[in-house]
Amino acid sequence: MTCSAARLAVCAAGLLAGAGSTVAPLRAQGVAARKVAPRLYILRTAAGSNVLALAATGGTLLVDAGPADGVEALGAALDSLGIGRVRYVVNTHYHDDHIGGNAYFGQRGAVVIARPAARAEAQVDTVIPEFNGWRRVAAAADALPPVTVEGPTTIHLGSDTVYLVPAPGAHTSGDLVVRVAPADVIHTGDVYEVGAYPFIDVWAGGSVAGMIEATRRLLAAGGATTRYVPGHGAVGSAADVERYLEMLVAVCGAVAQAWKREATLDAVMAGRPTASFDDTSWGPARHGPVFAELVFRSLERGSGCGGGTPARPR
Ligand SMILES: [Zn+2]
Repeated sequence: MTCSAARLAVCAAGLLAGAGSTVAPLRAQGVAARKVAPRLYILRTAAGSNVLALAATGGTLLVDAGPADGVEALGAALDSLGIGRVRYVVNTHYHDDHIGGNAYFGQRGAVVIARPAARAEAQVDTVIPEFNGWRRVAAAADALPPVTVEGPTTIHLGSDTVYLVPAPGAHTSGDLVVRVAPADVIHTGDVYEVGAYPFIDVWAGGSVAGMIEATRRLLAAGGATTRYVPGHGAVGSAADVERYLEMLVAVCGAVAQAWKREATLDAVMAGRPTASFDDTSWGPARHGPVFAELVFRSLERGSGCGGGTPARPR
């Protein structure tokens, strides 16, 4: 999703979170790139989307395509790195700041892959009255992923292996997280946010329980030295993801507790369920109520707060 008025608070938090990170040495028309492992680059678009580029044998694999606006600059940045022949694009989910560039790369021969639910959600054109009239615009036909994968999928590319792992009902209904080995890097899509409350698209099948479960699985899939590349913002460590998980669980618990006592959103919000996190590292305090509302709406739709204890990274 782009920084629409509906999502402005959360989206801005994501962008601000990345403002202080180290990027360079290459900048091309607003795209900042850096090499994070052999053959592996993070390219941050002008709009703040993190695109992961694996310069594999036989062509490049991208995780996410960024928004349509500015995709030519992304293509130019890849060309300047000498890795512009894109063979695969994997979409982490349907939001337009992750799939908007699909058409550009598809027209140049790339195969675009996503989960079936992501393809389906990308075709929905609707307005969400209960979330400031957020307008979801259907993607153009040539931006839709032609290949869909429902279950875990492995792509072997020379000495690299790319694991596509479904994270059902988390940020959206159709999330994929992508692990690249041997680089030990995981692109989380928008399941993980750095220093910001996340957006949960409950109108497209996302849920707070799914976010918590997916975050636990991110930790279980990685180790102490794994680098987690979020859809926006700075790269996180396992310790950062653990802190994020603790916040998700705590806020969900607080909202759920209030929700059991109070039936209405206003009554739950009056208790300021994010208060203990609003002055820490989760973005400006005004973003807390946006997140609390999303948790409330998720609980309303039958989500719990997940079960069990967080998995420890190995
Ligand atoms: Zn998103």
